[in-house]
Amino acid sequence: PNAVELRAVSKVYGASAAVRDVSMEIARGAFVTILGPSGCGKSTLLRMISGFVTPSSGDVLIDGVSVLGAAPYERDTAMVFQDYALFPHRTVAQNLAFGLRMRRIAKDEIARRVEAMLELVNLRGFGDRRVSQMSGGQAQRVALGRALIVRPAVLLLDEPLGALDLKLRKQMQAELKTIHRDLGLTFVAVTHDQEEALTLSDRIAVMNGGALEQFDTPENLYRRP
Ligand code: ADP
Ligand code: ADP
Repeated sequence: PNAVELRAVSKVYGASAAVRDVSMEIARGAFVTILGPSGCGKSTLLRMISGFVTPSSGDVLIDGVSVLGAAPYERDTAMVFQDYALFPHRTVAQNLAFGLRMRRIAKDEIARRVEAMLELVNLRGFGDRRVSQMSGGQAQRVALGRALIVRPAVLLLDEPLGALDLKLRKQMQAELKTIHRDLGLTFVAVTHDQEEALTLSDRIAVMNGGALEQFDTPENLYRRP
């Protein structure tokens, strides 16, 4: 089955639809970006996959199974939030361990996985540092590691690089691509930056006014005539 499948999904707030009738299939191992201007429904769509927003109608499937009744932590997904949502006064290692402690994983296993994750997100040696002492790029890596450490099938990223300056964005784009390739997971990222969508993803979902306008490879979407 596909990693993610949306079937005629809509979300209505009051009199207006944030997302209207979106159907979409995301293959396993894909890196999809959801691209469009502010307010077009990108975050709402992502949050219906993660379970933080409940659709008004339609169905959401993960690995071929409807997850409409499942809470976020019950889904095989993990989310990287735009503002990172880390615990600033805790250490990097404590932040990374959080999701594993929630899942009651054994202490020595947690320690092993935290060390491996510090390596993966290029933070070796930073485990005992407090998050409040980290730079923006480092905090971004902690947020990424905290999501990946629970080994989700699908990683969801909401404007993950939005808070970083241009140089750091470029560097983190490259790191994200490398991690995606090495882990072979499905990544779905929201961005309003066309260049970022082209750099990161193998498929781009173009949204406008709550609707999915196009869903295709960068080559097909932006091919010169
Ligand atoms: P984007 O991520 O593309 O900026 P959003 O998904 O955040 O777009 O929002 C899409 C539309 O839905 C916007 O008009 C926004 O104001 C509205 N919206 C989003 N969340 C809510 C909410 N909880 N209540 C009411 N309106 C909302
Ligand atoms: P983003 O564009 O990064 O998704 P926003 O700043 O639009 O975030 O929204 C922040 C939060 O407020 C989100 O949880 C969103 O669902 C909610 N929200 C957005 N628009 C509205 C709205 N018109 N009424 C109520 N809540 C909203």
